[in-house]
Amino acid sequence: MADKSEKQSENIVGAWFVDSNCIDCDVCRETAPNNFTQQKEKGYSYVYKQPVNDDELAQCREAMESCPVEAIGNDG
Ligand code: SF4
Repeated sequence: MADKSEKQSENIVGAWFVDSNCIDCDVCRETAPNNFTQQKEKGYSYVYKQPVNDDELAQCREAMESCPVEAIGNDG
């Protein structure tokens, strides 16, 4: 389970976030490209836009379930 006390600083404010366990595998960016992007210099993902409709929510949930290190959280 993702740890909200370990959120990457780039995450936009809101329920969904990526924590410091991210290994930059690309799954969330492929699954939910409207919401996740890459911090290229440091090599991890973060949430740049919170989901605003059912499609984006479904994609974020799928990304969370698919993340190999459980680095995606939703504390909303
Ligand atoms: S799926 Fe998980 S480990 Fe992979 S880039 Fe996204 S947050 Fe990081």
